[in-house]
Amino acid sequence: MARTRLEIRVEDPYSLELTLFPSFVLAIYRRRGDAWERYAGKVPIRASAQQVEEKLLVELLKPRTCNKGVEEILSLELGTWHPPLEQRIGEAPPRFAEVLSRLSRMYRGVRLSIAPHEADLMFVAVALSRRTDYHRMVLKWFQKLWEVFGGDLGEIAEASEEELKCVGTSYQVMELPALVSQFLELRRSSRTQSLLKAQSPSRSDVFELRALFLERIRGIGPKAVDAFLMSTKKAPWLLPCDANLQRIVSRTGLVKGFVSPQKALCARYVCDEEVADELEVELCPLAEEKRCLVALLRGLGELKQWFQTLCYIHGKLRCLPLKPRCSDCALLEICEYAKRRRR
Ligand code: SF4
Repeated sequence: MARTRLEIRVEDPYSLELTLFPSFVLAIYRRRGDAWERYAGKVPIRASAQQVEEKLLVELLKPRTCNKGVEEILSLELGTWHPPLEQRIGEAPPRFAEVLSRLSRMYRGVRLSIAPHEADLMFVAVALSRRTDYHRMVLKWFQKLWEVFGGDLGEIAEASEEELKCVGTSYQVMELPALVSQFLELRRSSRTQSLLKAQSPSRSDVFELRALFLERIRGIGPKAVDAFLMSTKKAPWLLPCDANLQRIVSRTGLVKGFVSPQKALCARYVCDEEVADELEVELCPLAEEKRCLVALLRGLGELKQWFQTLCYIHGKLRCLPLKPRCSDCALLEICEYAKRRRR
């Protein structure tokens, strides 16, 4: 079959591998030799991408010819839509800048991979990822779901136990139809649809959408909602407080005595003063008391998502929960946990 070949020049530093690795977008890609193949997706683009130094070589199988829309989708998914964030480390408060600089040297070229055009599938990947290993379990389940249901959320919502057993028997798979039904129900309102459609939403729109998800979808908490929003919007100031982020800020001593976002509070309040004024909603008491991790990391501004992404990679590859690989870590000299271990 005829293929269209594209060559995209990317500004250094850039790593396709490290950009896809921590993202939910990875669910619609799979490894094919040295390339990453976009094998799934409701938008009918079938392509493979391979990095060769500062170039991305893309082979487009479907559609046959490339157009601006296809280029834009690939650029969002492959993380080339924004310049390297390494250039902005100076915007972070000094202690965070030090950690960001060390992390970004270890994991060079991490960008933000998002799939606004694949919101349905991003919801499925996030819903499956609750309390389980993303790379070992979720990617496998997702691939099977794609084979069986082809990304049709209506069919997933109606799926029988027998059909789901072809995908997996864990509760994350068994509970998926209920979560997807609630998502489809939420999507029926025109307000939700317009909020979901916006690629670069305002902060107040994101907080409104976040509250709607938390109120209307049972079984989804702030971390999952933020992960979904982070994967579908240009909102680099969002911060899903996952276990890796929490472990790394605690171990390094960057933030102490914090609490993670609480669903009941997140559904009712907002954690940003300006948005609280704009939406005429109260500021969350945990933000006011500067106890919630999101509020304590506010100084990172638009570097929040990148910081969380770097922490996720670090938590997966080196700063492991039980046996951190401190001897191979660029944070070693400034890490409080490592100092305590050495004593
Ligand atoms: S020095 Fe060890 S504990 Fe500290 S961040 Fe690195 S791997 Fe984690």
